[in-house]
Amino acid sequence: MDTTTTSTQYVFSFQEGDGHNKKLLGGKGANLCEMTQIGLNVPPGFVISTEACLAYLASTERTIPDGLLESVRTQISQLEKSTGKGFGDPDNPLLLSVRSGSALSMPGMMDTILNLGLNSDTLAGLIRQTDNERFGYDAYRRFIQLFGKVALGIADEKFDKPFEELKKREGVKVDVGLSADNLREISEVFLDVVRQETGRPFPDDVFEQLEISIKAVFNSWMGKRAIDYRHEFNITTSMANGTAVNVMTMVFGNMGTDSATGVGFTRNPGTGENIMYGEYLVNAQGEDVVAGIRTPKPVQEMEQEMPEMYRQLVDLRNRLESHYREIQDFEYTIEKGTLYCLQTRNGKMNATARVRTSVEMVAEGLITRDEALLRVDPEELEQLLHPMLDPAHSVHPVAQGLPASPGGASGAVAFDADRAELLGRAGEKIILVREETKPEDIHGFFAAQGILTSRGGKTSHAAVVARGMGKPCVAGAEGITVNIRNRQAQVGDKVLHEGDIITIDGGTGNVYLGEIPTVEPEFSAELNTLLDWADEVAVLKVMANADTAESAQQARDYGAVGIGLCRTERMFNASERLPMVVKMILANNTEDRIAALDHLLPIQRGDFKDLLKVMAPGPVTVRLLDPPIHEFLPSERQLEDELQHLQQLRSTVAGMHDLVGAMRLMQDAKATDQSQSSSFGGIGVELVDAAIAKKEEMLYKVRELSEINPMLGHRGVRLGITYPEIYTMQIQAVLEALAECQQEGVEAHAEIMVPQVCTSEELLHVRAMVNTARQKVETAYNLTLDFKFGTMIEVVRACMRATRLAEVAEFFSFGTNDLTQATFSFSREDAENKFLPFYNELGILEDNPFEVLDVNGVGQLMRVTVDWGRKQRPDLKVGICGEQGGHPASIRFCHHIGLNYVSCSAPRVPVARLAAAHARLTEADYTLEGEMVGTAVSM
Ligand code: PEP
Ligand code: MG
Repeated sequence: MDTTTTSTQYVFSFQEGDGHNKKLLGGKGANLCEMTQIGLNVPPGFVISTEACLAYLASTERTIPDGLLESVRTQISQLEKSTGKGFGDPDNPLLLSVRSGSALSMPGMMDTILNLGLNSDTLAGLIRQTDNERFGYDAYRRFIQLFGKVALGIADEKFDKPFEELKKREGVKVDVGLSADNLREISEVFLDVVRQETGRPFPDDVFEQLEISIKAVFNSWMGKRAIDYRHEFNITTSMANGTAVNVMTMVFGNMGTDSATGVGFTRNPGTGENIMYGEYLVNAQGEDVVAGIRTPKPVQEMEQEMPEMYRQLVDLRNRLESHYREIQDFEYTIEKGTLYCLQTRNGKMNATARVRTSVEMVAEGLITRDEALLRVDPEELEQLLHPMLDPAHSVHPVAQGLPASPGGASGAVAFDADRAELLGRAGEKIILVREETKPEDIHGFFAAQGILTSRGGKTSHAAVVARGMGKPCVAGAEGITVNIRNRQAQVGDKVLHEGDIITIDGGTGNVYLGEIPTVEPEFSAELNTLLDWADEVAVLKVMANADTAESAQQARDYGAVGIGLCRTERMFNASERLPMVVKMILANNTEDRIAALDHLLPIQRGDFKDLLKVMAPGPVTVRLLDPPIHEFLPSERQLEDELQHLQQLRSTVAGMHDLVGAMRLMQDAKATDQSQSSSFGGIGVELVDAAIAKKEEMLYKVRELSEINPMLGHRGVRLGITYPEIYTMQIQAVLEALAECQQEGVEAHAEIMVPQVCTSEELLHVRAMVNTARQKVETAYNLTLDFKFGTMIEVVRACMRATRLAEVAEFFSFGTNDLTQATFSFSREDAENKFLPFYNELGILEDNPFEVLDVNGVGQLMRVTVDWGRKQRPDLKVGICGEQGGHPASIRFCHHIGLNYVSCSAPRVPVARLAAAHARLTEADYTLEGEMVGTAVSM
């Protein structure tokens, strides 16, 4: 870990700098010190600290802090001693490289200046020494060019243009084709460019060169590029403040065929394979590799080409890994048969490589299991569980929405669920495109590869259902206008028709026209090993939100130990069941309703039995019906439209009837075909009238059930108490399923959960229904049932009445989707679509509380609920099943307040397992703003 020291010493030789103090020396500088001190062959040099940079930037005139240049001179003398060369010495010149480097790597901060210390005198010395005029002039022109661009701020093209002209004149494509004379000529041209652009000759004084370069590095910290980068990636001053300057003796990879330059990873960053990975170029400078001027060779070829150097490189690689105990990304140069390491840093790699290397490094004894677990970011694991768009694609998106459920998918556009189902059955790949989705679209979800909506947020119906199924979803792509009547969608100036192929990326929210290939996910043996270790460490158990046997099986395969939330309403939406549900809703009396429910009972029983079996012996938490029942009916607008169509049809049919009658009057009645007359007339009208009556009845019911604020209306336990037949049927179905499992010797565990509870009286009411059903089922099956009865906590009052609720409930499950909604008084969909992005941008809220648990508000309610509930019932089981239950930072908080489990969609289960282990391993460092009594909560 980095330690932060304050120091008035501004300059540190590589021999003395503290390799752990990245804040003071920058990442690059600290590593150069560290490598030097462990005996790796690093060209001698020194680091000017970030504190020097900050002091320089804070001074009114931007002046170099007192004493800094003196210290630099002292360091240069040291370098002269250790190299035997002289800075500015025409006979044996010491040349330097100058680089920036802050605590965090920031690509594009400032380019490196190479060959500093060259002037007309030292150049002559260099040429004499190397006996290589071409090499000398090449070094000189590179220096003038880089110094001009980087330190003096001269635009690239001022150098590039004459350089290209020279190459054209000489008929050469690449720099190496230029002769010593050509390079001498261009050096003169470059010196002229500097004179013209700055109004001063190029500085020949080597100390002046160094001073100008140091200032340029300092200034680059406040350059636009650097500021934009820090802003974009939220890099705060506590993470990185100021840049260090690394001054290092030049070594040359372009001194002949015994010289080379290369970059490498200690292991393959794409696969994690334990083989050195990288490229090198013989007789070249690092710049040539980066600029792609020549094609480098794979590092393994060095074994044949330069066997001794390869052996040294393997040794360097091994020493880097065993010291840093992390995959390193390093740069090296070979100068006349001597290998130098110029830079190292922790290697960036993809999730596959990170998982594999973590597990293998434990086996190799490099790191501990705990370190291996902490090395992998739980969020990264998502990459491994969904097909991803081929990272090599270069297609531009045509629209962007919210990344609502990860993964990439391509398919033909279908504008409604029926069409999606039809085409899906025919074997087509489908993307369901809707303005927004509703519960009755569920069959379309099953048929589709991915879902795209033009409205709605990350917790919209489309997003939640897609995540539950592990299907990619882009939600709220407002650049798309869906016109369902014309069966087309407008995307910018393009029109999408049904059947057109599109691709969505649920990880980025991008939408593309046409097909982009995907790469299949891998659930490797290493990932399983890592997650097994995670389970051993974690205290929190991980359950899944699942309501089909298929997603339950997936959750189980991913390591879920139970189902924390089965949303039973999803079972009502399957296309063959919906008519029964509608019949139940339209029933005008209890008897008719019970008759309709009787049809649903065996179906629900079968569903529950499947889930219990898949999860046995893990618990299956069945939530009784939650949404308002009008959600199962078509919308008022849809019914009105359909009625209007039917009325039109009726007048057409009646008109036909009149026409036939009139024809009969005009013609010989006998000649008229009677059967035709009746099909156009009487019977047709009757049929249409019957259809109209049915629609009107449905419309009447929809209007009767319609609510101003359905989410706060007749739903959840309120519905269960006013229509007790529904809950009675569901409870009976759960208990019968359990009884049948018991009879079959399956060790099933059911838990019945009541939604939207605000008072213990509601729970008592439902428990009475449960008790009646239990007696009935136990008698019928002649056995004793063992199950739990509990409640969701989604209502603020439920939190405040936790003690009383725990008298009745054996478990609590925080429904943080609703609880967040209730705590903020934000309507979820409206917030995400309208003002939340602004709130985030303005910093009023840091995150979306529907994704990341609001620990300071909702979290505090949860904490008291847990405490009060357990006061009443010490063994009260408590979990979370809102969307935040799969989010690592939220999981950390859940661990902190002592929950027993988190429940999330199946594809998030691996993420949650690792996050639960992280929560346990980092619990000692956990602090929460506003937690202490009397401390103001900031947000
Ligand atoms: C919740 O409110 O957090 C919850 C899980 O219920 P739903 O999302 O189904 O309303
Ligand atoms: Mg809820």
